[in-house]
Amino acid sequence: MHMQNPVFIPGPTNIPEVLRKAVDMPTLDHRSSLFGDILAPALAGSKQVLKTETADCFILPATGTGGWETAICNTLSPGDAVLAARHGMFSHRWIDMCRRHQLSVEKVDGRWGTAAPADRFEEILAGDKAHRIKAVLVTHNETATGVRSNIREIRTAIDRARHPAFLFVDGVSSIGSMDFRMDEWGVDVAVTGSQKGFMLPAGLAIVAFSQRAMEATARAKLPRAFFDIRDMAKSYASGGYPYTPTVGLLNGLKVSTELLLAEGLDSVFARHRRIATGVRAAVAAWGFRLCAEEPSIYSETVSAIRTPEGFDATSIVTHASRKYDVAFGVGLGDVAGKVFRIGHIGSLTDVMALSGIAAAEMAMVDLGLKVDLGSGVSAAQDVYRMAHDTEALAAA
Ligand SMILES: *Cc1c(COP(=O)(O)O)cnc(C)c1O
Repeated sequence: MHMQNPVFIPGPTNIPEVLRKAVDMPTLDHRSSLFGDILAPALAGSKQVLKTETADCFILPATGTGGWETAICNTLSPGDAVLAARHGMFSHRWIDMCRRHQLSVEKVDGRWGTAAPADRFEEILAGDKAHRIKAVLVTHNETATGVRSNIREIRTAIDRARHPAFLFVDGVSSIGSMDFRMDEWGVDVAVTGSQKGFMLPAGLAIVAFSQRAMEATARAKLPRAFFDIRDMAKSYASGGYPYTPTVGLLNGLKVSTELLLAEGLDSVFARHRRIATGVRAAVAAWGFRLCAEEPSIYSETVSAIRTPEGFDATSIVTHASRKYDVAFGVGLGDVAGKVFRIGHIGSLTDVMALSGIAAAEMAMVDLGLKVDLGSGVSAAQDVYRMAHDTEALAAA
């Protein structure tokens, strides 16, 4: 196994050379001003990527899962109700965590491949006259199914029901790759991690709280210790950290946000959209369907691809890894064995995407699937050639 090839798993994502170097730091005294010079721009850059001017942002040594915990334990109390859609592995796990924290979960089950249903949320919230529900939890991009939910519509649903519930969004596999607007969409807590759109190793949870959510931190009664953002806030006020910070990763985050903002968030989103469109064209050329049930909810960062009935989709992933040293994502949970996933998130170009599509084709042909070598590559090539022509014309 060599590691020359890009990975096509939907996280952790490929780490650009410049970020690998940024993470590689000599030891420094985190109580000196040197540390503040890393932390402050990492926080400011994260807020820009989240598109928030008003939220308080915290960066913790954890992963996205720790970010979920940070969101709930700082704002809620035992017995509080939360409303959540369960339509993929990640929404499933966040709900499970809520239950372990003694929250009462009002769940709306959806087929894997559908989005969080704003209309159902509106009905349920409108019926909750006693305002028992304290927060609505949404997975912006279900990484297991390649489904994007519409956060703006869900905010509208909460407002139309005239309900005071918070809106908590898991943006782990969307933020930094797909359009996300914390302030404009009225998100109260946004959660992400370092190893997806930020193109870094795993190790940081990035969690931003609206001012209304910050007020709730004083009332919240769920037990919290390591993830207590009040300790973080106190230390941040003097440019410090409540315990030993992961300095290298924080420096990586500073540089990552600089990279994203220098490319321009709109260009980053357009690149992901273009690459995803090419991958979807390849899937159509192979004659397969996506797990996501309709185009309006297609993810721009991951495609979960249904293979023919009776075929073990996981064998594509195992074979591609063994024979070609290329990593794709396996199906998780309800769709295990039924889909394989091509991650197209983070540091990726059209040319890299073409190599992944080509490798997937070789694996599928090796395994006897009726796919023509070159069919998906050719379909994606057409998308990328034309998209570049259109973009060049627009810039001229
Ligand atoms: C990757 C991911 C997570 C977090 O996983 P960690 O392994 O804890 O970083 C959470 N939600 C979504 C949607 C994800 O894609």
